[in-house]
Amino acid sequence: MADPKASVVLIEDDPQIRRFLVAALELHGYAPHEAATANEGLRLVTSRQPDLVILDLGLPDLSGLDVIRRLREWYTRPILVLSARTREQDKVAALDLGADDYLTKPFGIDELLARLRVALRHLAGQQAGDADGRIEVDGLVIDAGARRVLKHGADVHLTPREYRLLLALAGQRGKVLTHRQLLREVWGPSHVESPQYLRIYMRALRAKIEDDPTRPRWLLTEIGVGYRFADAG
Ligand code: CA
Repeated sequence: MADPKASVVLIEDDPQIRRFLVAALELHGYAPHEAATANEGLRLVTSRQPDLVILDLGLPDLSGLDVIRRLREWYTRPILVLSARTREQDKVAALDLGADDYLTKPFGIDELLARLRVALRHLAGQQAGDADGRIEVDGLVIDAGARRVLKHGADVHLTPREYRLLLALAGQRGKVLTHRQLLREVWGPSHVESPQYLRIYMRALRAKIEDDPTRPRWLLTEIGVGYRFADAG
């Protein structure tokens, strides 16, 4: 690759995990910068302006959620969260605050690298402006300009709400969107506490799009968190 190395700030207090991740990131062509505390990490993101931040949620000085809150006042690039906790509400809170994705410890390095690639592709897409508004994944085409959805070349007829839900997910493919984020985007801020709408529309959308709605290929469930539109690779 002729691209300059993508820079990553890693905020993680566990020295073993930090050393392991720094070595793996360097090996795979990234330029990592490491911080062991939240405050050090916030300073490092400010000085380095990295392409991406990897953030552990359990830090000694501030909570990772506070770090996301502060970063999102000005930092618009991807934040990938590492969580040792199995409690779903921490991941959901991190995503609601603007994190892009999460991994639960222990995770494999291949999984981390795959999530990094997805997040950096988003960043490249944002910077290029996603000019033509056409999304194509595995034979499913969403043509936002023409407001059309095609599956293997055949028109799929969606209600306006189904279409907005599909577009919300596909427009950020690979990224987990929480129930609250989807409800706010598709139904509006007064409906964020009505997850039943989302379940009903997701079932309808899957019935129209998926070959086997019980084993979805595009519209994936993140249990207890939300949904994700599949990203190839
Ligand atoms: Ca930790």
